[in-house]
Amino acid sequence: MQVLVLSNSYQPLYTCGVEKAVTLLFLGKAVSVRDSDQVIRSPSVALPIPEAIRLLVKAIVHRYYETMRPTRTAVFKRDKHACQYCGSRNDLTIDHVQPKSRGGEDTWENLTTACQKCNNRKGDRRPEEANMMLSNPPKAPRAIEVASDLWSKLMGW
Ligand SMILES: [Zn+2]
Repeated sequence: MQVLVLSNSYQPLYTCGVEKAVTLLFLGKAVSVRDSDQVIRSPSVALPIPEAIRLLVKAIVHRYYETMRPTRTAVFKRDKHACQYCGSRNDLTIDHVQPKSRGGEDTWENLTTACQKCNNRKGDRRPEEANMMLSNPPKAPRAIEVASDLWSKLMGW
């Protein structure tokens, strides 16, 4: 059974397992929006299993969205602080795989880490035009990674 998790402003974020949802209720970091007809019982408490919970922690949800955006820091982190063309760790910049001048957007899939040297060499070209190889094709973080990051903040792990 999965529980729907809503943001503070009732925006659906994702689903989680019952155990996590109940932990958040116990910690006072979420409230139940809708209860199912099933109940969890312990010797002292009987708690309806929620179908949907709403997070009470605004700041953390904001940080969740931050994690979703391909900021400079987030792209460097994903690429383990190494140029994706030559592996250098010096003078790192953000490179648009499809150049910005040619319609390349600021998306996870189009941004990669490049050292200044490689970025200059690549210029206004796509990697294949510049005869340069990306060691890892840029990807968006998987929802599960982002969610587990959020959980660790919510649960104070
Ligand atoms: Zn490089």
